[in-house]
Amino acid sequence: MTLLRLDGVRRIFPGPPEVTAVAGVDLEIAAGEFVAIEGPSGGGKSTLLNILGLLDRPTSGAYAIRDRATAELTDGEMSALRSDTFGFVFQAFHLLERRPVLDSVELNLVYRAVPAAVRRTRALEALEALGVAELADTAASRLSGGQRQRVAIARALAAGTPVLIADEPTGNLDSVNGARVIEALRTVNARGVTVLLVTHDPEVAAAAGRRLRMRDGRLTELDTMARRSGADATSAPIGTPARTRFGDLVRDAAASVRTRGGRTVGGVVAVAVAVALAVGAFAVGATAQAQVSDRFDAHANREVAATWSPGDGRYRPPDAALLDGLSSLSGVVAAALLDELGGHVVTGVPERPGVIAPVFAASGDLVAAARLTMRDPLGTGPVVLIGSSLAAQLDLPAFPAHPVLLVDGTRAAIGGVIAASPRVPELSGAIVWVGDRPAFAESSRRTALLVTRAGAAPQVAAQVAVVIDAAQPGSVEVDAPADVSTLRTEIEGDLLLVLSGFTGLALLAAVAALANAMAGSVLERRAEIGLRRAVGARTRHIVGLVLIESLLIGVAGGIAGLFAGLMAALALIASQGWLPVFEPLVAPAALLGGAVIGGLGGSLAARRAARVLPGEALRA
Ligand code: ADP
Ligand code: MG
Repeated sequence: MTLLRLDGVRRIFPGPPEVTAVAGVDLEIAAGEFVAIEGPSGGGKSTLLNILGLLDRPTSGAYAIRDRATAELTDGEMSALRSDTFGFVFQAFHLLERRPVLDSVELNLVYRAVPAAVRRTRALEALEALGVAELADTAASRLSGGQRQRVAIARALAAGTPVLIADEPTGNLDSVNGARVIEALRTVNARGVTVLLVTHDPEVAAAAGRRLRMRDGRLTELDTMARRSGADATSAPIGTPARTRFGDLVRDAAASVRTRGGRTVGGVVAVAVAVALAVGAFAVGATAQAQVSDRFDAHANREVAATWSPGDGRYRPPDAALLDGLSSLSGVVAAALLDELGGHVVTGVPERPGVIAPVFAASGDLVAAARLTMRDPLGTGPVVLIGSSLAAQLDLPAFPAHPVLLVDGTRAAIGGVIAASPRVPELSGAIVWVGDRPAFAESSRRTALLVTRAGAAPQVAAQVAVVIDAAQPGSVEVDAPADVSTLRTEIEGDLLLVLSGFTGLALLAAVAALANAMAGSVLERRAEIGLRRAVGARTRHIVGLVLIESLLIGVAGGIAGLFAGLMAALALIASQGWLPVFEPLVAPAALLGGAVIGGLGGSLAARRAARVLPGEALRA
């Protein structure tokens, strides 16, 4: 039976310029033949081999394999038939560099879903047959050219495919190694495999049983004495074409990642940096958030102020009962009443130019309730406190001389200077009577200033109006951080937003870096990917391989980043003397993040890898 038959096959590359690489070829090849095709470079030999090996389709003419026409085959059927029929050997070897030779020899069987143990036996047998069994565990990158080519032939032999296609297998070899490779091809042919060999070395061609010459796209028979190997040529490959096991895909990806040092490390570092940033930001963020909230509680949540206008407009004596009532509210730690007495002429003694300044009168514990910072201790018989800016304006003599002031002509001894008054800022430019009230005092507005225990302010605020004016609590204006929990949530929300922003940017950068690394890796491996496709890998196997590689790198980066981020955060938190607050979900989140980066980063490269055609292995 005719194994392969070409009838009037033409292959025209549309260009421009249009090239007729194969210009009408008729050829019949019987099972068990050893055919050599010679001819000058550019004569169309590789193009013809691509068509014969189902790596390319003719522009016109018919190609039949065992009388089965190939023109109507779908891409999937063509892949399966190719995987069942052909093994390939190329000038550039195309072994899996840095991986043990066995991995390369088993590759065809991986894509035929052959179990690992059977693969190993078949691969070792093939290496044995070609005299290179001792190299099985050596990294391919350490072999000589001649050894590599024999390993490549073993790969074609191991699958048990009936036809071996070799495109200039000795092109990169010296004559001694070339002769060994030719010997290896004869060995393979003697076992019943049909060999199609392209060479432009006449000596190499002389080893074949049948010699053809190709020039300008046309084929001529040089030596029609068709020598056939004696062996029965009906060998069939084992396994199922274009199938693979998921476990093998993962193992293949892991081996590929392990042996591609530089790119792998680059990818892992990119992911690790991003994940570390994210982990660190959230770890520090959670701690800082607790700090912010604590401070928030410590200050704002402890102050209540209530303001009202006394009904009769006349100043009334210090309301001891009111202060008692306020102080006895649960949670109140300091209380004071502050009366606004309006503007009055304040003059220094001895006589200086006077100024009009706001005057207040206070009772209760004003220093604590208004959170005053006093610059000078209160002297004996204090009458007024003076704000620091008013003191500077009046150019008062230095303390502790305890100067005297005139307020609307009334003498008042200064008991101290208010250096800072954060709760009632007006006091820094004012006079505050803290002793007996002056006769002119007429209060338009009263304020009760309260300081509470942490967290008690809301309850106190709810009760204070009733204490001040039980009859008309609505006339009292209460100023307190009424909805503390809302404010707190807002602050925490802001913090989260900032952190999410940072994290998002870091993750985007990692995806970009990994996408770049993986795309570079695919570019470097076009020939390898082409070879995988040539021996039967489907597009989705290639996509799966690249995605799994990328996922492995992403997860490795996630683990590394998790540790790096936690260490960095701990160092920062310790240096601040804070109490670390850790979210336990950060670990699974880091791994998931790494995987997501891996998936996204690998998807672009996977799409590119999917476009690599089986024929690219021959072209490289
Ligand atoms: P050989 O293997 O005998 O050196 P080839 O089959 O590689 O010859 O090339 C035959 C002709 O076809 C050459 O002119 C080459 O430039 C052209 N050719 C080969 N492959 C392609 C392609 N993919 N696209 C366009 N032209 C091509
Ligand atoms: Mg060629």
